[in-house]
Amino acid sequence: MVSGPVDANQPLIALRGIRKHYGDPASGQPLVTVLHGIDLDIYAGEFVAVVGSSGSGKSTLMNILGCLDRPSDGSYHFQGQDVAQFDSDALAWLRREAFGFVFQGYHLIASESASENVEMPAIYSGLPKGERVQRAQSLLQRLGLGERLGNRPNQLSGGQQQRVSIARALMNGGHIILADEPTGALDSHSGAEVMALLRELAAAGHTIILITHDREVAAQAQRVIEISDGRIVGDSASQPEAAPAAATATASASTGEGTRMQLAPVPQGGSASATPLWAELLEAARSAWRGMRLNRVRTSLTLLGIVIGVVSVIVMLAIGEGARRKVVEQMGTMGTAILYMGSKPPATGGPAGQITEEDLDALRELPEIRRVMPVIGDPVTVRYGNADKQVYVFAASEEMPLVHHWKPKLGRYYTDTEDRDLAPLVVLGHKAHKHFFPDTPNPLGRQLIIGTSAFEVIGVMSERGADSGAQDYDDMVFIPYQSGRARVYQAQTQPDYVVVEAMSSEVVNEAEAAIHRVLLARHGGREDFGIGNAAARIQAEAATRQSMAVMLGLIAAVSLVVGGIGVMNVMLMTVRERTREIGIRMAVGARQSDILRQFLTEASLVTLSGGTVGLVVGALVGAVLVLAGVPVVFSIRAMAGAFACAVVTGLVFGYMPAKTAARLDPVRALAGE
Ligand code: ADP
Ligand code: MG
Repeated sequence: MVSGPVDANQPLIALRGIRKHYGDPASGQPLVTVLHGIDLDIYAGEFVAVVGSSGSGKSTLMNILGCLDRPSDGSYHFQGQDVAQFDSDALAWLRREAFGFVFQGYHLIASESASENVEMPAIYSGLPKGERVQRAQSLLQRLGLGERLGNRPNQLSGGQQQRVSIARALMNGGHIILADEPTGALDSHSGAEVMALLRELAAAGHTIILITHDREVAAQAQRVIEISDGRIVGDSASQPEAAPAAATATASASTGEGTRMQLAPVPQGGSASATPLWAELLEAARSAWRGMRLNRVRTSLTLLGIVIGVVSVIVMLAIGEGARRKVVEQMGTMGTAILYMGSKPPATGGPAGQITEEDLDALRELPEIRRVMPVIGDPVTVRYGNADKQVYVFAASEEMPLVHHWKPKLGRYYTDTEDRDLAPLVVLGHKAHKHFFPDTPNPLGRQLIIGTSAFEVIGVMSERGADSGAQDYDDMVFIPYQSGRARVYQAQTQPDYVVVEAMSSEVVNEAEAAIHRVLLARHGGREDFGIGNAAARIQAEAATRQSMAVMLGLIAAVSLVVGGIGVMNVMLMTVRERTREIGIRMAVGARQSDILRQFLTEASLVTLSGGTVGLVVGALVGAVLVLAGVPVVFSIRAMAGAFACAVVTGLVFGYMPAKTAARLDPVRALAGE
């Protein structure tokens, strides 16, 4: 330990004019002055007893001495440095490295074992785990608790608990032991043991400040200071300068410290601990896990909130995505820019119109229109060898594969020239191929009889799938439009319907309006035709599905937020329930950042476990949906996103309670307020 040259005549602790008021007249509470100007010097190695009746202000004084509380007025110099200038980290350093507290009520953490309670100050000072455990155990052994290392405080007697707290005070050296009524709750035998221990420590060079209302107890100290109504009314130290010399001369034997009780100067501007971050996180996670286990019901309810949030995000996104994919698939097969057109009797009565080649040529001129494809299609008897079947024979131009985004998987489609030359060619749908040529993987060159004419097979279309609407395109055969009119549909004077492809999906409605305008003009104002806007319908459906997906996502997000609020609620309760624990941790030297980290770790542990369980349950729900035939699409991104959201939500909502905990005033926290 690097120690600055500390003047032996300089007091370790120097109080001047210390006052402490409670209450705030501004907010209606009467102002109570508990300490009325305390002047006190304490030298290194002294064994001082502060004695006074109950309510005289002893504990208030001790809290100020131990930097658990700040005075309302007056100055406090520690090794010559003004404590009022210290930031919260420097004060935590003092509590951790300089002081060791022993309280009347022991103030052990109920959920931790004796050994873990003793280790705590060393956790915050960054001693590696192995050394920490070893030191805690040897201290407990020396104090006669070697058999009780793993016991929780409620499994120990009062005297044993007080010895654990003395071991804790010694963990980081215990240069100055502040003991507030250490024997107050003990029977006379245990009390005597504790006093013997303190005397031993004093002999070993520790500075001991003992607070008691009992004059007999006080008499065991080297110097007795009497306090009454917040004023020092007596001090047995005739020659205070003599005290440090006497104390430092005493060799340290009983505690085996072997140290001169000299402290390093207080580090300013924050003190980083030597422990690597992961070790601190592990430590925080360990104690968080313990807290969660101790409150199983509450933990599982909180987890449930997070799990529901994560599951709903995952499942809803999967359903939304499934629905969207379905529409996209439909768009792919139907095209997003497709209009259908046919003749029909006008609403005003009269015969249906005729859609002529000239009409179609006029439409082809329109800038909004890319392709115009007349179609004739009817069930016709198709024969190969002895097999015959009624097949829907689809007669259209060579543009069919382009319009329908569909390609042959075998051979080729016919060309524009072949169409104009009335070439007798046929391309088979996937199922038609299976039907007529079950044993011929490659039927190219074979002749099919369609109606009464022979057509040569030149291609087989790829499989379209079951999504192609009312008619199954896979069942059909495809022939050129002109040869269809010439050889199969001789009676037909006009197309059954016309497929119009707009320039793009953005202009389908303009294209529809343009077709309407042109045909109306050409048909002398008679609306003897109909236009079906399939693209607009699909687009509308896509938009609906999209907004549904967004809605689902929103609902899911809300449930995740609700889960997060649950985490916050529980964390706030935890903080309230554990104020005393927080106070103890602060008294043994935890920094605000340590407390913040601990509670954030607890929040993240809850959300991490909730997120993990949520992922598993979400996958299970998804599996059930898939089995039930609901179209769901799971994406790793959505799952990772939901998980990340859960963790972030936990951190965000856990931050506020954690901050609340870290900002607690040590004295108030210790009082469990
Ligand atoms: P002792 O330890 O000597 O018994 P304390 O220092 O605990 O006395 O208290 C001294 C006086 O200060 C008591 O009268 C007590 O009521 C008062 N006091 C202590 N803490 C507070 C507080 N937080 N608010 C108001 N009064 C307090
Ligand atoms: Mg008291």
